[in-house]
Amino acid sequence: MKPTSIQIIEILKKAGHIAYWAGGCVRDMLLGIEPQDFDIATSAKPDEIEDLLEETIPVGKQFGVIIAVQNRHHFEIATFRSDIEHKDGRRPSKIEFTNAKEDALRRDFTINGIFYDPTEDKVIDYVGGEKDLEARLIRFIGDPHERILEDHLRILRAVRFKNQFNFQYDQETYKALEKHAKLANKVSNERIRDELNKILLNPNTTCALEELSDLELLHEILPELQELKGCPQPVEFHTEGDVWDHTMAVFGALKPDASLILRWAALLHDIGKPSTIKLTERIRYDGHCEKGAEIARGILGRLRLPKKDVDEICWLISHHMMVVPLFEMGTGTRRKWFLGSRFPHLLELFRVDAAGIEPVDLGMYDRLLELYKHDLTHMPHAPKPLLTGLNVMKELGIKPGPAVGEILDELYERQLAGEIRDRKAALKWLRKRN
Ligand code: ATP
Ligand code: MG
Repeated sequence: MKPTSIQIIEILKKAGHIAYWAGGCVRDMLLGIEPQDFDIATSAKPDEIEDLLEETIPVGKQFGVIIAVQNRHHFEIATFRSDIEHKDGRRPSKIEFTNAKEDALRRDFTINGIFYDPTEDKVIDYVGGEKDLEARLIRFIGDPHERILEDHLRILRAVRFKNQFNFQYDQETYKALEKHAKLANKVSNERIRDELNKILLNPNTTCALEELSDLELLHEILPELQELKGCPQPVEFHTEGDVWDHTMAVFGALKPDASLILRWAALLHDIGKPSTIKLTERIRYDGHCEKGAEIARGILGRLRLPKKDVDEICWLISHHMMVVPLFEMGTGTRRKWFLGSRFPHLLELFRVDAAGIEPVDLGMYDRLLELYKHDLTHMPHAPKPLLTGLNVMKELGIKPGPAVGEILDELYERQLAGEIRDRKAALKWLRKRN
């Protein structure tokens, strides 16, 4: 990928244009991180880029952005531009082609505004980005207030990059974030989702969430989560603090490779507590799993996450208190749970939920894990059912209806429990049952 992006820069330069690596890849390279993609900025106009390169896709041609397909890799090539029209703090609606310096000045933070010419190993820095990278500072290019008013998403991007790299804020930048936090609620839900997903997948998520809360940004973009602050927990079981403190500890216990689905489930697993809390003989949250799933569906739907992901996250939330019931089930029913495709995620949610409680007690989780492993060595995959609905109807001379499903369910659980091992035994059981 990297050599191919250099090839493209050489083609553009040979035709007399200026061409650089730009944005995130330069920042990452200077930080010693392997860049994920190599964006190119150039003086060549979109038509000229299309003429010079073999395969291109005109995705954002009116904004000066062309995708080049070279050696099966995709590269974003953007003509140097200024953004001249920002309406209501959204993405620019109009641009103008300019030079490299102007293009650097339209970018958000100094660390994202550095260019690099890989053919000459030369850094081109019009914005003091290198110095800020060294000092590990997030600083808006130009006047921070103006930059936020142009595009309010930059408030969230500041928090995201600051925590992603474990930097600090330049003080003027921080003051501007504090002042304009309210504007975050004008950002489109899709753009908020993309930033939140990145925050959840990056390191230091819990620090980022604390900052979002301190800056009163969370109240604007995820008010349901802010509600966890100050929602008490029973001291008999939780000495770690309130529901927010517990949630942060749970999130912190996730493994670095945890999926986005599990991350959202961990973040929202107790989102139903503030609305179900009652003080009887102790603090209780009856029905908080179901209520939590309902609230989570509202949040995730609003943020337009894919429906399939929303379904899984909400299922995990509504079943996150299943540890004890799983011990009390019959073998067949329990194995049906264990063999479900979502169970590994649920098991991991059990672990982090327990790990986020003080004093930590992983005893129940460890016992469940042992049982799970034991069951899986006996039955690593869900077996094919021994009989079909048709078999049952024919054998018993009955018509389609709920009874057929009930019989099949009971039979399958007995099959999973190892009580009924083959077709012959299944038919025998069926006749006897009747
Ligand atoms: P990541 O590693 O997350 O992709 P990135 O820096 O590449 O980080 P992108 O969102 O891919 O971030 O944007 C690429 C570049 O475009 C940024 O480095 C920045 O220079 C510029 N940019 C992106 N979004 C904005 C914005 N909202 N305002 C100003 N400049 C932006
Ligand atoms: Mg990028």
